[in-house]
Formats: sequence, structure tokens, C-alpha cells
Amino acid sequence: MATFKDFRNKVKPNWCPGCGDFSVQAAIQRAAANVGLEPDQLAVISGIGCSGRISGYINAYGFHGVHGRVLPIAQGVKMANRDVTVIASGGDGDGFAIGMGHTVHAIRRNINITYIVMDNQIYGLTKGQTSPRSDVGFKTKSTPSGSVESALNVMEMALTAGATFVAQSFSSDLKELTALIEKGINHNGFSLINVFSPCVTFNKVNTYDWFKENLTKLSDLEGYDPQNRMVAMQTLMEHNGLVTGLIYQNDKQPSYQDLIAGYDEKPLADQDLT
Ligand code: SF4
Ligand code: MG
Repeated sequence: MATFKDFRNKVKPNWCPGCGDFSVQAAIQRAAANVGLEPDQLAVISGIGCSGRISGYINAYGFHGVHGRVLPIAQGVKMANRDVTVIASGGDGDGFAIGMGHTVHAIRRNINITYIVMDNQIYGLTKGQTSPRSDVGFKTKSTPSGSVESALNVMEMALTAGATFVAQSFSSDLKELTALIEKGINHNGFSLINVFSPCVTFNKVNTYDWFKENLTKLSDLEGYDPQNRMVAMQTLMEHNGLVTGLIYQNDKQPSYQDLIAGYDEKPLADQDLT
């Protein structure tokens, strides 16, 4: 049986020392081993951005796509090969700006893949501009007087788009993040996991210390029920989205694959669809 070490390869990440993405990579490798996968049963598809490099750092099938297009590729891989476990990954700029149309429709389509967003509230690869996740007043090279646009609350957005699995974590919390990725992989449907993954080079506001001070773990809230969508929405609003843990899961809704006639019989490539 594979261990997390089997999901390592010889490529040395060129992320800045301290970047949150290192822990996300480690969590994916641990989660993949913990759910019993072998490297040839996993495909990691990524978009463009610092976080997009992750597909090259994991020993599994990988595809480094183009900016904002990780989800069309990942959904295509899953539809073509029903036996492969698909993890899509990218940054907040990739998934919530240029890729937002794909994100919303992948959510409502409920294809059985896991989408992990490394959310650093900035564009890191292009050296520090505001992203759709940057807070009002955030000063960057593109907003020297401070951003006047409000940050998108992606977890609330996912709930209203009909998501069946919504979770959030912090790259410092490897244990929680690994457990959530395992749950996401095991979920029969589209799972969205947003990970606060600090950019130590360009975001000097939303730092590790800032998150430690401002995040609330749902496991610390007495009686929190992740199957209650109303409570999930209310909790997000009360905490301005700054919660971690499993926010919402609906495991009763069939996945896209469940509703496609013949999907489980043989690969689509081998079927006569005329
Ligand atoms: Fe990470 Fe930021 Fe460096 Fe990119 S620029 S590797 S996001 S710390
Ligand atoms: Mg980013």
C-alpha cells in the first residue's frame, strides 16, 4: 500500500520559503495515501499561478493547464476515465476571477472531483496585485491607494450555487487540511476546499499570525451541524467567512456521474453515444 512518500517526486518546488503551498502539497500527498490510492490512480490538474505548479510536484498523473481553465480539464479527465481520482488545484485568482464561470458551473454540475484552491488573497506569480479575494483597503502595486472592491465570499457563493461539499482550511493546520481532503475525495460529488495559504512575499497583511488570530474552527462551535445549509450560511455571515472545517455536506444528492446513463458500464470513449 502506498504511503505519502510514494506521492513525492524528485522535482524541487520553487515556491518562496514559507509559502503556504508547501503544506497543501504535503496534505494532498498524505490524504491520497490515507484513502488508499496508488500514484497511478490519481490525477492532479492545475491552473496557472504559483499554486499551479503543484501538479508537477506530486508523483501522480498531472496536467498543468492554462489560466482559469483547470476545471474544464479536470472534469474532462474524470468523464473520460471513471476510475481515476481527480484533484483540481489552483489559486484564488485562477478560480475566482478568470475561472469563476467554470467554478460556478462545476459546482452545480456536481461531478465527482475535488477542487482545492490555494487562497492567498493576491496574485503572487505576477508579483502582487489584488485578487477577487483581496479585502477593501488592501494596498498592492495595482491598488496603491487601497482596493475599493469588496472581497468575494467564496464559501457563501458556493452554497448559493448548490454545492454539495464546502470546506475551508488553513495551510498551517496540516491535520485538519489532510482530513478535509480525504473527506472531499470520498465525497460522491464536487467538493470545494478553499485553503488560506499565505503568500509570505507579497501579502504582508493576511499573514500566518493574522490567520491564527482571526480564524474560528467549526469544531470549536458547539453542536455545529455541517448538514444544515441555513446554519452554514448564517455561520459564514457571522464570521465574515473566516471559519475552517467542514462547512456543508449534502451526501444525499446524486453526482453528475450517477445521472449519466451508462457511465458506470464502460469508459465513454468505448461507448456508442450516437
Ligand atoms: Fe508563494 Fe507568494 Fe512566493 Fe508565490 S510569490 S511562491 S504565492 S510566497
Ligand atoms: Mg492568489
